[in-house]
Amino acid sequence: MNYAMGIDIGGTKTALGLVSPEGQVLSKTSLPTDLSVTPPEMVDKIAAAVTQLLSDAGLQESDLKGIGIGAPGPLNTRLGQIAEPPNLRSWWNFPVVAAFKRHFQAPIVLENDATAAALAEKWVGAAASAEHFIYITISTGIGAGIYSHGRLITGATGNAGDIGHIVIDPAAGLCSCGQHGCFEYIASGTAIAREGSRLLGRQVTSKEVFELAFSGRDTAIKALVDRVFGYIATGCVTLINTFDPELLVIGGGVSQVGEPLFGAVRNYIQRHALNPSGRDTAVVPAALQQDAGLIGAAALIHITY
Ligand SMILES: [Zn+2]
Repeated sequence: MNYAMGIDIGGTKTALGLVSPEGQVLSKTSLPTDLSVTPPEMVDKIAAAVTQLLSDAGLQESDLKGIGIGAPGPLNTRLGQIAEPPNLRSWWNFPVVAAFKRHFQAPIVLENDATAAALAEKWVGAAASAEHFIYITISTGIGAGIYSHGRLITGATGNAGDIGHIVIDPAAGLCSCGQHGCFEYIASGTAIAREGSRLLGRQVTSKEVFELAFSGRDTAIKALVDRVFGYIATGCVTLINTFDPELLVIGGGVSQVGEPLFGAVRNYIQRHALNPSGRDTAVVPAALQQDAGLIGAAALIHITY
């Protein structure tokens, strides 16, 4: 009864791991999230992988304290369902908790993946000593997990922290959600690649955009990156003004660009956070880039939140 199984369901792959009460990943595996099969069939495959991980470790289901599942939002944790995540279209309204309950008797907990990753940073990551912090992930999309007054803020249905659809610039283009100029539409890795490709007249990744910007060879690309860092900083100030955190933890692929981003964000916060104490909010990189999803899913079982 000491271990937790963390399952992180993503649009391209599902990662799962056996995690100790101390937050150590004892063993892990992953499988492609096969969108050509039905969600119940995919759950059968994930369940088989769980059973395999357990037997490889010489364990049985009765050794599990529970199974934590992180999944992309929107979802509905009250109903135990996936709701309408854009990158898991075939899973819309799928009762994922009930599907896993057909395979396992251990307790099963479902939360938004960014919320779970925030809990992982609190448990064994960059926010261990913080009672008020926000974890922000910037990759293909933008999301957040909010930890305030020593607990996670999940909302009525598990969708708190969906900051990717805060409007930053209504004059910018149409977001998939129907609003204009959402945070995610103008500052995600997808946005950086899209705007970089438009400026250059060829397809580039966000990583190539950053390389070109920092090489000093393209002023338009440099201006694009500066603009995006400004959007990210604006989003951070909105969060500071709303939640008064002591710490912001930024993870996700775009955060790997490192100091140019973190420096720009700190600088903007120092000038624009409304509350004088908010101007000194610490901004640090996530500690758990790899395995954050499955450690977070396991944290849902191991710690009270
Ligand atoms: Zn939107």
